Amino acid sequence: TVENKALKEELLEKDRKYVWHHMSPHNDNPMIVASGEGSWITDVEGNKFLDGMSGLWCVNVGHGRVEIAEKAYEQMKTLAYSPMSQSHEPGIRLAEKINDWLEGDYRIFFSNSGSDANEVAFKIIRQYYHQKGEATRYKFISRYRAYHGNSMGALGATGQSSRKIKYEPLGTGFVHVPPPYCYRCPFGQSESNCAMECAKAYEDTIIAEGPETIAGVILEPTITGGGVIVPPDDYLAQVRAICDKYGVMLIADEVICGFGRSGQRFGHQNYGVQPDFVTMAKGLTSAYSPLSATAVRADLYETFKGNEPTSHFRHVNTFGGNPVSCAVGLENMNIMEREDLVARSAYLGEELRKRISVVAEHPNVGDIRYFGFMCGIELVEDKASKTPASPDKVLKVIQSCKQQGLIIGKNGDTVPGYANILTIAPPFVTTEEELDLIGQIVQNAMAQL
Ligand code: PMP
Repeated sequence: TVENKALKEELLEKDRKYVWHHMSPHNDNPMIVASGEGSWITDVEGNKFLDGMSGLWCVNVGHGRVEIAEKAYEQMKTLAYSPMSQSHEPGIRLAEKINDWLEGDYRIFFSNSGSDANEVAFKIIRQYYHQKGEATRYKFISRYRAYHGNSMGALGATGQSSRKIKYEPLGTGFVHVPPPYCYRCPFGQSESNCAMECAKAYEDTIIAEGPETIAGVILEPTITGGGVIVPPDDYLAQVRAICDKYGVMLIADEVICGFGRSGQRFGHQNYGVQPDFVTMAKGLTSAYSPLSATAVRADLYETFKGNEPTSHFRHVNTFGGNPVSCAVGLENMNIMEREDLVARSAYLGEELRKRISVVAEHPNVGDIRYFGFMCGIELVEDKASKTPASPDKVLKVIQSCKQQGLIIGKNGDTVPGYANILTIAPPFVTTEEELDLIGQIVQNAMAQL
């Protein structure tokens, strides 16, 4: 309508004047989103788009969940705020449920974001070794291509140079190993003769750095935002065994993999591995409210119980675990249970595969990788050279999808600046018909390339 157009013009003008956007500070023409319902978002002009990218933000239960809004409203009226140095029922019940889903024995430390949750894990582990008289153990091993957050420590753990240059020095004590990127195997192996040197790289690195200096390993069960890099089946079990051999803590960053995206409740559950720490954020509330958590092996918590203040974990977080976010998280998990959305995610993943795999023959498609209800389509200049597709080509596909009413993402700088891996991860409430549409739109967009 005319009013919608006028509103858009007014907002755009003010956006250009006042807002500094994440990722792209010079984004003069952002999409101004007004509302969301299920798998769809609507912009201020009333144009509707399928939200094929919401999985990276983990709006897993879909947009417009009135049940969640009502719980937030009720909680805000009853008790809007209380710090987590005290306690409250939504926080207690949520911690219990997270522990149930993890099928282990964990203590839950709440904070606000995925970056926070990882910082908490790093700090607890360093303090733990300090108190054990092993203060030399302060280093963490993470992987190239991984993303673990934007704060100095989490960025130190991040293995993407394009996000780090110009901000150094970052948190120190982070070393990287190559990820199991089978399409471009860093060890020159093919899948048929894979000797899992990527898992063994942890042991080589531990030995090279000195085992007495290594505190932990942090990894996503599958690298998601870094390009949907799915490991061979027993990779994670091998990494776990190496951690055990050298007394190194294993942190599973489940910020995206967790809460059903992988087709299991948590990504690591696909690989039969139990981490010492599990960090989680977005999917905990389906992004309805800022909340994150660090699950810590319960026996480690016991070692922080001494009477001297120095044995306490000195970390406070004003908003972390606030009752409103916890009530939201609890309702989000209840919805997932009531509607069996973890199983639905696994089913939808298979359905997505059927619809996307048809573009595999396209000359610009190098590889397609699936992980639960997420897929990454790696675009190349040609199949033989595997040269990453130019940013221009990638943009063309994304824009064509958008013109047809589908939002998808691009990730995983194969070469810095060349984010050539298209990423699709819709909400778990997506219907088969909506998946047909996604498949059709992606096929059309590729055909135009
Ligand atoms: N870890 C992973 C795997 C992530 O994908 C992200 C965010 N994309 C983070 C940590 C950081 O989370 P946040 O943006 O909430 O700080």
